[in-house]
Amino acid sequence: MKQKLSTQFSVGFALIVLVTVALISLAANFFISRQFQKYVEEQQKAFSDGLAEALSDQYDASNDQWNLDYIHGFGMYALNDGYIIKLYDNEHSVVWDAENHDMTLCHQVMNTIIQRMETQKPEVKGTFVTHCYDLSQNGSPVGHADISYYSPYYFNENDFRFIDALNRILLVIGLLSLIGAVIAGFVLARRISRPISRVTELTREISGGNYDIRFESGAGTKELEALAAAVNQMAETLGKQENLRKRLTTDMAHELRTPLANVSSHLEAIIEGVWEPTPERLQSCYDEITRLSATISDLEKLRQIENENLKLTKEPVDLFELAQDVRTSFEKELQMKHLNCFVEGDSCIISGDKRRLYQIIFNLLSNAVKYSCDGRDIHIRITEAPKSAILTVEDDGIGIPPEELQLIFERFYRTDRSRNRKTGGSGIGLTIVKSLVQAHGGTVRAENKETRGSRFIVTLPKNG
Ligand code: ADP
Repeated sequence: MKQKLSTQFSVGFALIVLVTVALISLAANFFISRQFQKYVEEQQKAFSDGLAEALSDQYDASNDQWNLDYIHGFGMYALNDGYIIKLYDNEHSVVWDAENHDMTLCHQVMNTIIQRMETQKPEVKGTFVTHCYDLSQNGSPVGHADISYYSPYYFNENDFRFIDALNRILLVIGLLSLIGAVIAGFVLARRISRPISRVTELTREISGGNYDIRFESGAGTKELEALAAAVNQMAETLGKQENLRKRLTTDMAHELRTPLANVSSHLEAIIEGVWEPTPERLQSCYDEITRLSATISDLEKLRQIENENLKLTKEPVDLFELAQDVRTSFEKELQMKHLNCFVEGDSCIISGDKRRLYQIIFNLLSNAVKYSCDGRDIHIRITEAPKSAILTVEDDGIGIPPEELQLIFERFYRTDRSRNRKTGGSGIGLTIVKSLVQAHGGTVRAENKETRGSRFIVTLPKNG
């Protein structure tokens, strides 16, 4: 049967305390009782010895007389305490005998002691034992005394009361500790179980799709705080992924629908005979299909980069040379738009994947060409820092709204400026650039130039 944490803790604590208190009580009881018995036994022996000594003092050698008044008072006092005295002189004649003096009281005292001990301390198995003392005064014998008392020891009412009080104290301490333990166990368990239950609730909500909730453990415990942080991070990551997935689906649908709708409306008009299938119209359909293919191939590339744990085949690559190669591949586009593209800097060798580095420069230059107005300049610059190489691609084009500088690296993100221009991009090129740069251990950022156009700065570690 599954039990609540608070029950388990309370029961566990209670059991521990119960066992501890029981052990302490037993041990205390055992040792205190033993010590007390020993103490009482010694006390009784000492008292009996004291009695004998006091008796011997009551003999007056000058007139060969015993102080009977004193002995009587003394004997009765001792009798009430459980000591039965019989005093003899040197001639063995009885001087004073408690039994003779008050037989009834003697038996009453003896019976009370025997009964009390047999009922309350039967394990002692004692009996009245007579201890014989030779009495002397200044070294000369004056008589002898028989002192009987319950041996090895006996407890009077006060002694029993003391033992009872002791047991009661131990019992009260035990009970209080037990209650304390149950409360402590309960409180502690609640402190732990509350955040755990909350985590269960939250993870249930998260699995139901609510990623905005955040968890605060408030327990002040390191492990629970770490749990809270992990749950929050999980919710945040899942939320981001969910948003990305939603946006991806919407954007993808949008990106694919527009060119398809164009092609289909053109073809429909041609089939229905509304339009002549002129080479221009067919070309326009062909262009749309090419754009679609390009988007799909970009998506393919991105999937590869992001999903397949991109493996780089590293080799020494001269970035300057590579930039020149990319520039050459854009010769036709540059000419068509009358753009001047300058590759500046010096040879700079870094360790990287040549094909992927080519792709980075290619995508950046492709954008620079796309978003430049006719007849402008484009600068590709390679600068060397002690541990890294910096590649800058600058254009005099349409620029990027400052608030969107971060966003353009997200997949399918296109600024309104670029959408309005119908430049035919898909919004994936920069996402590919960012993934490839990160795979090389570098960073990429975009900024607007002071005058006009934008600047993309890629920093790549030389030994990345
Ligand atoms: P696209 O295929 O749309 O160019 P990218 O991921 O390469 O996709 O770029 C994302 C968006 O960033 C572009 O649509 C455009 O709005 C903006 N952008 C990228 N490069 C430039 C640039 N050189 N000048 C102005 N805007 C740019």
